Amino acid sequence: MSKGTSHGKDGKEEEYVIVEEKVVKYNGEIAVKRYQRGRFLGKGGFARCYEFQNLDTKKISAAKVIAKSSLTKSRAKQKLMSEIKIHRSLHHNNIVGFEHFFEDSENVYITLELCSNQTLNELIRRRKRLHELETKCYIVQIISALRYLHSHRIIHRDLKLGNLFLSAKMELKIGDFGLATKLEFDGERKRTICGTPNYIAPEILEAKQGHSYEVDIWSLGVILYTMLIGKPPFETADVKTTYRRIRMNAYTFPDHVHISESAKDMISKILTNDPAKRPTLDELLMHDFLYNEGSIPRLLPASTLACPPSAT
Ligand code: ADP
Repeated sequence: MSKGTSHGKDGKEEEYVIVEEKVVKYNGEIAVKRYQRGRFLGKGGFARCYEFQNLDTKKISAAKVIAKSSLTKSRAKQKLMSEIKIHRSLHHNNIVGFEHFFEDSENVYITLELCSNQTLNELIRRRKRLHELETKCYIVQIISALRYLHSHRIIHRDLKLGNLFLSAKMELKIGDFGLATKLEFDGERKRTICGTPNYIAPEILEAKQGHSYEVDIWSLGVILYTMLIGKPPFETADVKTTYRRIRMNAYTFPDHVHISESAKDMISKILTNDPAKRPTLDELLMHDFLYNEGSIPRLLPASTLACPPSAT
């Protein structure tokens, strides 16, 4: 990574950061790809994310920059390696595209497909809640990505609004595979306690029985509720109370928001504490709420980022 200054359009000095990726070619020669670091996009647990422009192709990507100094523990390193291994194997229109992964002396860099319209977290913050038709459009895209993931024996385990990105074309893309796992065989049960409190499935909290694909379906139910109501079903001021409410399946539909019976039915079928009784992805697509998918828009206009869709 190197820093320098240049003169911007207004003549003022601007600092720029160039990152070099050394690529060893088939003939052993070393080629250098250069990226200019641009706008700061956001911060996660380990990573800071920026726009990176490839100076040869001019293509702009999102790059997660992880300081090597934050990877001193072997567990952190292993987790990052697992995230990269899983994410780079995935190719689906509703999953954030993985591009490259490289390092220099200070950082590890992961370049990803740029999702310039942020996440559903920011969207709900701006809009408060969504119309049912918008919700259907997003849920169908999440189900499409989950069918792909589960058919490759991958469980995401951290589905939440903040990990659902929107591309420039308004396609929904699932990202952040930091907690994802690949099962060795279909009946395998995982026991690690992980996830984000509001979205965590009850069987993860009861670690004894282990968990599998159904945890992603539970999170999908929490996402659906949150998109329609404006806040997660089990949210409280402290994590312990949230966990107690999840275990007791204690959530209600508030009177002040109107939602259809079919939406309520889909949410309550998904938020079933026994994972074996939860609907499968295929059953969800056949549910009244989503059935007749033909009438659901494939994509929403960018105007819905700020305002509800017009009634026409
Ligand atoms: P971590 O794995 O450390 O939690 P995230 O994957 O959540 O990091 O990324 C941190 C932030 O960077 C996100 O909240 C988002 O604001 C931004 N970000 C991540 N990936 C992209 C992307 N592909 N396009 C645009 N912004 C992104």
